[in-house]
Amino acid sequence: MNSISFPCRVRCCSVHWLGRPIMFKEPAAKFTFFKYKKSEGLKWSNICQARPASLKCIQTEVKNNTSVARSLRHISHTGEQVTGFEKANTLSLIRAAAVLKLCSYDFVVNNGIKMFDIGIAVFGRRAFGAFMRWTFYGQFCLGTNNEEIMKTSRILNDAGLKLILCTTVEEESLNRVLDKQSEKAWFEENVKSLLDCVKKTSDVAISQGPKIMQMKLTALMKSSLCEKITQHLNKGNEDDLTEMFDACLANKFEDSPLFTADENQQVHGAMLQLLEVLSYAEKKDVYIMLDAEYTDINPTIVLVAKSLMKRFNKTKPTVQTTYQAYLKSALDDVKKDLDFCLRSNLHFGVKIVRGAYMNAERHKAAAKNREDPICEDWNSTNDNYNRVVSHILQRVSSQTKPAINVTVATHNEESVTLAIDRMIWNKIDSSSGQVTFAQIYGLSDYLSNSLAVNGFLVYKSVPIGGMEETLPYLSRRVHENNGLMKKTRKDRDLIWKELRKRFVLF
Ligand SMILES: Cc1cc2nc3c(=O)[nH]c(=O)nc-3n(C[C@H](O)[C@H](O)[C@H](O)COP(=O)(O)OP(=O)(O)OC[C@H]3O[C@@H](n4cnc5c(N)ncnc54)[C@H](O)[C@@H]3O)c2cc1C
Repeated sequence: MNSISFPCRVRCCSVHWLGRPIMFKEPAAKFTFFKYKKSEGLKWSNICQARPASLKCIQTEVKNNTSVARSLRHISHTGEQVTGFEKANTLSLIRAAAVLKLCSYDFVVNNGIKMFDIGIAVFGRRAFGAFMRWTFYGQFCLGTNNEEIMKTSRILNDAGLKLILCTTVEEESLNRVLDKQSEKAWFEENVKSLLDCVKKTSDVAISQGPKIMQMKLTALMKSSLCEKITQHLNKGNEDDLTEMFDACLANKFEDSPLFTADENQQVHGAMLQLLEVLSYAEKKDVYIMLDAEYTDINPTIVLVAKSLMKRFNKTKPTVQTTYQAYLKSALDDVKKDLDFCLRSNLHFGVKIVRGAYMNAERHKAAAKNREDPICEDWNSTNDNYNRVVSHILQRVSSQTKPAINVTVATHNEESVTLAIDRMIWNKIDSSSGQVTFAQIYGLSDYLSNSLAVNGFLVYKSVPIGGMEETLPYLSRRVHENNGLMKKTRKDRDLIWKELRKRFVLF
């Protein structure tokens, strides 16, 4: 298939992306008749005379015939996709197919950590480690040392993909180490890991686009303390708490009557540690995305983030927050915090996810006899996600300074398609760095590759660290994303398609 035609002078034109139609809805759009031939190095701007700016959204710079062919094939009516698997080596494809298939079984997902411990006990650390290294660790992690991370980063960079690094530290992992070291030492160790992660994020960023890192507040502040802060927030103590966080960051901290002496010390310590990590990130030009966690922690994360933003987001969105669209309150929360930033003349960076803790949230709500904070069903979560993304993208286009940056973090094709549609509608340049897409490393690679080939900024989120910290972390993520792991069918089908092509050839 080397020619594609678009309807002549229509008011509304449908183009296909991942086999689904994207609607160009602007009434003034006039598409001129166009036939693409592989031999002609045509630019996207040739396709549409009326709206070259919006086409920039799809493909900013078409470098050669091959990439034109790939992009056009990608959105053609044949439904054929650029998967990126064409370039992968056969062994890594077999591994991906096997690991993703295993992760689709409930038994594996629910017993990951136990199986890891049993594997080590039965086969020994070395043998089992080697097996895991080739399978699960190899599929979802970059490697243990800088060299391995750099090597993978270069390969991804050639495919137009960037990395969001994250550490494996979060409070659940504290339980695994408590017998070996004290809590205080654990938090101090986490600071070192976070600083190292900032450095690595900066080192691996070979190409243009924001340098981004992900972290959890509970890596530095105990979740029980976060819950207590949220309770005080709910009682109307927002001003006192804001004052307390601001004072910590200015190193003018005085004990608050809301907390015990020990808690006051913990708040002060955690804020100073955050300050150290953020100052280093600012110096290295790395943006830090604070993950969203549970609803009894999230308000604290946002409040802490706001204090940090006042310090770090005057010229760029160094501190970024996350909103979970499975929460009924997501759109209101985003609007409130966005307005706070714009009123305070601060840059606003946001990651939009569906949310990973649905079952736990529902259980907690039922146990405490509270209203379920999660949207009642899958469709309402989707609608909510799309509403939040549409709202933010509309604000991105209408706001120049201070700027708004958004990361559409999802593996869901419909949401990605909607985001592209909204970018086109709002005339957002895909290379501006204000809108980025993110998927987990080792998952939905076909989607990431398709986006990258079409000129979007795409990141793969990946934990760094040795196998013993990373695998339990991954196991928790896989467990939380049980639903997602069951939906790797398309990944596997495309991988098998590529493998069949290779085996038929030989
Ligand atoms: C880069 C990146 C960063 C992330 N950061 C965070 C973070 O900070 N915090 C966080 O919580 N998660 C985070 N996640 C995970 C994310 O929230 C999702 O769990 C995961 O991405 C799956 O959602 P999806 O949109 O990709 O896939 P989909 O398969 O389209 O959606 C699955 C999600 O839909 C929701 N859902 C499923 N069934 C129902 C139902 N019956 N009712 C209501 N909702 C339902 C759940 O949230 C489920 O996780 C991150 C993901 C990525 C890729």
